[in-house]
Amino acid sequence: MSNTVSYAAQSPTTPLAHHLISRRSVGPTDVQIAVEFCGVCHTDIHHSRNDWGRANYPMVPGHEIIGKVTGLGSNVSHLKLGQQVAVGCFVNSCRTCSSCEAHMEQYCLNGFTATYNSPSKDPGGFTYGGYSKSIVVNEHFVLKVPDGLDPAGTAPLLCAGITTYSPLMHWSVKPGMTVGVIGLGGLGHMGVKLSHALGAQTIMITTSSGKAADAKRLGADAVLISNDAAAMQAMANKFDFLLNTIPVAHDFNQYMPLLKVDGSMCIVGAIGPNAELNSGPLIFGRRSVAGSLVGGIKETQEMLDFCGRHNITADIELIRMDEINQAYERMIKSDVKYRFVIDMSSLN
Ligand SMILES: [Zn+2]
Ligand SMILES: [Zn+2]
Repeated sequence: MSNTVSYAAQSPTTPLAHHLISRRSVGPTDVQIAVEFCGVCHTDIHHSRNDWGRANYPMVPGHEIIGKVTGLGSNVSHLKLGQQVAVGCFVNSCRTCSSCEAHMEQYCLNGFTATYNSPSKDPGGFTYGGYSKSIVVNEHFVLKVPDGLDPAGTAPLLCAGITTYSPLMHWSVKPGMTVGVIGLGGLGHMGVKLSHALGAQTIMITTSSGKAADAKRLGADAVLISNDAAAMQAMANKFDFLLNTIPVAHDFNQYMPLLKVDGSMCIVGAIGPNAELNSGPLIFGRRSVAGSLVGGIKETQEMLDFCGRHNITADIELIRMDEINQAYERMIKSDVKYRFVIDMSSLN
């Protein structure tokens, strides 16, 4: 075991602050990583504040981790000391169920071990995330960062990037298709960049005309204002695929007529009950509504390599560790373009 400095919430109402945690010793298949950067995801706020009712304290959030290898187990052969690596939303799974065997650890039938707040044999009894100086992770869940990508901007690819890349792959987005990305936040801005890089006609769908210029800068070909009924009507039956990144409960129904026959809308933001779904537009057009959760380890590596080839990173605002509580307040007001990333060298 080794002690490492972290930032933790001690209860749903206490701000995050300095906290010492223990990491397990480096086992034969483990990788020890000095954390350099950690992205800040909305999930971090939900868990810190126990919004979902299953928080364990102290809570050390963080699942968009970039760092350097500082220790290797005796059986780890595909990584080197000093190599830049990444860890995303989960650090273990059963490895034997049908989902795990199909490289979809995120859908492990026995439940994956999340990078933080999951029961674990680690010191403390549950996992601690990337708001810390050091982490020990099984080699299977450690990803390689392509050369040349800015490491701070790469951190959000581990959650926001893969969450949008995986559905774009599953629905085979390619040149000639028209894709709508709904909502321009941390997820949406990655969705626009990735859909554009895949060669699809990419249209940003937002309530806010003020976001049009930024959406185009990120790679959108056009912007559709969703509360402009005439504009929405004019785009009916035009989209092959809609990537819905809105993070809160909302009404899906207004978007369904945008889809072509057999088109699909995938939900990646809002978890839980939403407005009642009208099956009419589904039946009259064989349209589908689906959901998707991050991506498996193999696909996450493919996403990182794709971003390496296309030089895609997130647009970020780099903060010090002691600015995290203000960052949470700003995120709640959507006041960030488009992801906060913590410079972990600021934590000592
Ligand atoms: Zn996340
Ligand atoms: Zn499994």
